[in-house]
Amino acid sequence: MVSCLASVAESVAENYVKKIGGKDALRVFRALRVLGESTDEKISEYTGIHLNTVRKILYELYEKRLLFYRRERDEESGWLTYYWRIDLSEFDSHLREEVKRLMRNLKEKLKYEESNMFYVCPHGCERLRFEEASENEFRCRVCGEMMEYDDNSKVLEGLRKCVEELEKFINKE
Ligand SMILES: [Zn+2]
Repeated sequence: MVSCLASVAESVAENYVKKIGGKDALRVFRALRVLGESTDEKISEYTGIHLNTVRKILYELYEKRLLFYRRERDEESGWLTYYWRIDLSEFDSHLREEVKRLMRNLKEKLKYEESNMFYVCPHGCERLRFEEASENEFRCRVCGEMMEYDDNSKVLEGLRKCVEELEKFINKE
C-alpha cells in the first residue's frame, strides 16, 4: 500500500506545480519523476515541449524549491551541463500547511464513518446512512434493489492509519 503521506505529498506538489506553471509545468514535473535526474534537452525530447519553455519552467520550479540541479563542466569545451531533479525537502513547510487543512476534513470523515452504519446498493447507485436507508425500507432510491449492510471496518482502518501518519508528519520537528 502506498503511504498516505506520500500520496498526499504528491498531489499537493502537483497542484502547486500546476498553479505555478500550468499544464506544461506539470508535464515537466511528471517527466522528471519518470526520468529521474535529467537535462533540459532530455526533458524536452521526452515531453515534446519546446526547449526554451522547458528551461523557463525548470527555473520557475527551482525558484519555488521544488527542483534542484547539479552542474557539470565539460573539460574540453568548457560548457556547463545542468542536471535537474525533483527535491521536495524544502517544500515541507508548504506541504505541512496543506496537510493541516486536509486533516480537518479527514477527521470529520473519520467521525462520520465511526458514528454511522451504512447501507449500499449492490449495483453501486448509492450508499446511505442507516436512518436514510430505513426511511425507504432499505430499497435503493435509484434502481429499487434491496440495499445491503456495508461493513466499513476496512475504511475505518485506512482512515485511522492515514490520520495517524499525517499527524506524525505535522508534529515532527
Ligand atoms: Zn441501486
